Amino acid sequence: MPETGTPGTWALTCPHPCPQGPFPSRPQLLSPVPTRSVCPYCGNHVITVTKAVPGILTWILCTGICMAGCMVGCCFIPFCVDGLMDVSHTCPVCQQELFRYRRL
Ligand SMILES: [Zn+2]
Repeated sequence: MPETGTPGTWALTCPHPCPQGPFPSRPQLLSPVPTRSVCPYCGNHVITVTKAVPGILTWILCTGICMAGCMVGCCFIPFCVDGLMDVSHTCPVCQQELFRYRRL
C-alpha cells in the first residue's frame, strides 16, 4: 500500500545523483532508519540495512573526553552509543554501502 505514487519513481527518472533533482530535499538519503532505495550497484529495489559506524562526531567526542582527563577507556564510550555514530546504509543483496547518514 504505497502512500504516494510509485515507489522508486524518482530513481528511475534520475539514475545518477543529481543535486538539483526533481525531488526537493533528498528525504530518503538523510534518515538513520532503513530506507527504501534503488541500489546503484545491482539495480535492485531494496530496503537498506543500517549499521552504526564511527563518524566525525564520534571521534570529536572521543577526543573531547580524552582531553577532559577521563580514565583510559571512557573515550571509547561514544563508539558504544548508536545515537552518536553515523549510520551506514548497505544493500542487502550485494552488501555495498549505498550512502551514509552523518550526525555532523
Ligand atoms: Zn545492491
